[in-house]
Amino acid sequence: MSFTKIRPIPSVEEILSAEPLTPELVRIKNERDNLTKAVLTHADPRFLLIAGPCSAHDEEAMCDYAGRLAKVQEAVKDRVVIITRIYTTKPRTAGTGYKGMVHQPDPHGAANMAEGIRAIRRLHLRALRESHLTAAEEMLYPDNHAFLDDVLGYVAIGARSVENQQHRMTASGLTIPVGMKNPRSGDLSVAFNAIRAAQVEHEFSYHGWDVKTSGNPLSHLIMRGGVDLNGRPLPNYYFEHLMNAAELYGHYTHTNQAIIVDVSHDNSGRRFKEQPRIACEILASRRHSPLLHKMVRGVMIESFIEEGSQKPEDNAYGKSITDPCLGWEETEALIYKIAEGSE
Ligand code: PEP
Ligand code: MN
Repeated sequence: MSFTKIRPIPSVEEILSAEPLTPELVRIKNERDNLTKAVLTHADPRFLLIAGPCSAHDEEAMCDYAGRLAKVQEAVKDRVVIITRIYTTKPRTAGTGYKGMVHQPDPHGAANMAEGIRAIRRLHLRALRESHLTAAEEMLYPDNHAFLDDVLGYVAIGARSVENQQHRMTASGLTIPVGMKNPRSGDLSVAFNAIRAAQVEHEFSYHGWDVKTSGNPLSHLIMRGGVDLNGRPLPNYYFEHLMNAAELYGHYTHTNQAIIVDVSHDNSGRRFKEQPRIACEILASRRHSPLLHKMVRGVMIESFIEEGSQKPEDNAYGKSITDPCLGWEETEALIYKIAEGSE
């Protein structure tokens, strides 16, 4: 092997004991988890919104954003349950580029995963402490989930990982909701198989142990669009797509059948300004069909303080360095629209 050892990765115990969750944070997280769970098990009619930047590269701006969301959450709490998107690992389509805070705690500095793990835990704890909202992460590296398990409120398995066995088995041991994205091919059966795999028990190796999981009844579908044979975006948020997914879902035996629609990525073709229109179309489809009203439990948006995106080497505050995001004013307006339209 041509691996060169650079530095040891801290153990899970080391990371958790350096930045433990306080009893107050445990209480807040449990409260939010119960709310999210109630929405995804159809016990609560409210609509879920997962909102935040494509990647969280700056603790200050990320916590500023989460604080803004928290204020709006208070205003729409009767209709909408908000989870902050705080993504610190980024899969790269072409293999190169910024891979997230966990690799590079300072986007202008050197890669350092040991420091990155400390940085993402600090970020998540601060965001929870200041906003009282739980956060969503993508599980790109299943082993790394252990560093954040006690703080996260939601996990997504990305389009590029959803067919992977280690991701599915790890998801089966989580006690929070895990959204399985459709793969970039658009093949929904891959996501349905992933949901099923996560809902059953597994024995496998995790962090040096032979472990057994209990199965995760909260794993569900995220529709994020796909691509055609030339790699061009093919949305899957239209009424017919949602009906087809809801009907197919019904043929499976999954528990807690729920759909979240990611209105960014291949649903918007990364035209970030289309996200409010797409979200409103989904709400209209949901009002039109009782089946969709039941199945579509929420949307995910890519949003930050400044709209659009910049290069990783640029320095604008609160602006994405990966996928382009909706700006704060339009995000706030959209949340009120979602509250109105999600009845
Ligand atoms: C993302 O959420 O930024 C992302 C990379 O999603 P997907 O896996 O759907 O491409
Ligand atoms: Mn993205």
